[in-house]
Amino acid sequence: MKILIVDDSSTMRRIIGNVVQQLGFSKDDFDEAEDGVKAWEQLGKAQYDIILTDWNMPNMNGLDLVKKVRAGGPHQKTPIIMITTEGGKMEVITALKAGVNNYIVKPFNAAVLKEKLDGVFKS
Ligand SMILES: [Mg+2]
Repeated sequence: MKILIVDDSSTMRRIIGNVVQQLGFSKDDFDEAEDGVKAWEQLGKAQYDIILTDWNMPNMNGLDLVKKVRAGGPHQKTPIIMITTEGGKMEVITALKAGVNNYIVKPFNAAVLKEKLDGVFKS
């Protein structure tokens, strides 16, 4: 399984990468992108099974990335989990409407990510 981790914070990408590895994935199982533009480029180069994306990022934010992915292309149906500090009800609804499959509010732990991943792949 191939995972794309999108976050403008290198620290946060490392944390998410560590959590993903705690769940049994290896370093070869995930790639990183620092904003929506880079993520979109990456999605054109390789096939991913899940996208974990931040919301607030420069150049192209996570919400716009989700809309772009859902608008068409090889990842149109790929599960997306948004991992963000934007935990308000309106934000969650906005993200779900845009096509996010699940939503995690930072800070989070491995158990939460596992639960959300399981939820995405079971549904
Ligand atoms: Mg950010």
